[in-house]
Amino acid sequence: MSEFNAPKTNAEFEQNFAQIKPLMTDNQAYFESSRCLFCYDAPCVNACPTGIDIPLFIKQIHSKNTLGAAQTIYNSNFFGYACGKVCPTEVLCEGACVYNLQEVPPIEIGRLQTFATDKAIRSDKKLFQLAPSNGRKAAVIGAGPAGISFACEMRIAGFEVEIFETKEKPSGLTVYGVAPYKITNEEALDEMDYLRKQFGFKVHYSHPVTTARNIEHLESEFEVIFLGIGLGITSDLGIPGEEKEGVTGAVEFVERLRMGHHEITVPKNVVVLGGGNTAMDAASESARMGAENVILAYRRGKEDMGAYEFEYDLAKSVGVKGLLNAAPIEITGNGKVTGVRFIKTRMVNGKLENIPGSEFTEAADWVIKATGQSKRSDFLAHISGLERDSKGCIKVNPETFQTTNPKYFAAGDAVSGGQEVVNAVANGKKAAQSVINYK
Ligand code: SF4
Repeated sequence: MSEFNAPKTNAEFEQNFAQIKPLMTDNQAYFESSRCLFCYDAPCVNACPTGIDIPLFIKQIHSKNTLGAAQTIYNSNFFGYACGKVCPTEVLCEGACVYNLQEVPPIEIGRLQTFATDKAIRSDKKLFQLAPSNGRKAAVIGAGPAGISFACEMRIAGFEVEIFETKEKPSGLTVYGVAPYKITNEEALDEMDYLRKQFGFKVHYSHPVTTARNIEHLESEFEVIFLGIGLGITSDLGIPGEEKEGVTGAVEFVERLRMGHHEITVPKNVVVLGGGNTAMDAASESARMGAENVILAYRRGKEDMGAYEFEYDLAKSVGVKGLLNAAPIEITGNGKVTGVRFIKTRMVNGKLENIPGSEFTEAADWVIKATGQSKRSDFLAHISGLERDSKGCIKVNPETFQTTNPKYFAAGDAVSGGQEVVNAVANGKKAAQSVINYK
């Protein structure tokens, strides 16, 4: 049973979605940075997909050189602030910190990172020198973490960069898809504004690139095109009743919530289907929006869940009830959802099978599907010679991120099928470096 009342004002929304990694004060950052052992060949650095020199920036914070710390962070990761808040640090840098071996709490690297980058953003300090224009032009499709990261790196080398974004705001999932208790819209957008002013790339908002004609136009105008298009809408489950009112996709729900805050109404009984991090977020968010009964149903056991354990624990801590080894077979109701019919499952010789006669129904006013997103196949089919793998992801050279059409480079979820923001940031930068170094 959820302990939250439905928020009626933005202040109540912010209370229900209080930041789980709040900004540190100066004193907290000074104390926390003093604990770092500045390890040789630091495991925290090796665990960071962007390879930030973590002991160096912590040392800089401790010596009160906070802007220097921000520079160290941004040198490796253009989403330094956002990643400090939304990265699963528990399994990345902080999970690798040597203090874990002594059963001492690891250094709060994520919060130190946002502390330093926040100072840079608030000061509006320009940290990078851009090379003079080299007269070469690159287009980026998608203003998400991969696309923005690509754009920043290209601008440093003197390329002109124009970004084409379908939505009204930049930052991709950081604004539209991450749970609001990880980062607020204002925080994510402030960092984007800081980057845009600093790097001077041009963004065309509400400017979808979808047709063969759009593609033809970009190909004639730009030397290089980067695809940072992410994923599409939530995939169908393929069970009866999916069309009923009250069935929604998790990414669509999170986006509505991020944009609408307290103006969104969540009903009393919510069933979330899925076992990944998006399912955990959707379940936690439903509970924080005042849903009384939130069930997170997954067709396999806990050990097979794609979600991090701490995300599952976080969902349970706000009253979400886990329902494991239960596969949905029908969404019931007459036009509008009234429940989900499940069948129990078990593993037999490594294969998941339904248990005959074990069907049961859970009441639901809403069903949130968090069972994967579609690929943007229709759009990608317009690009000649662009190959995709058996799952529909764009094929790239893993070193250079160049696609099978040499004019195009790509990174982010459209290539990986769905990873962390930090992976998209890291690979967007690597793709830009390949273009810059391409002879
Ligand atoms: Fe500091 Fe921990 Fe990294 Fe060592 S592993 S450098 S103690 S943050």
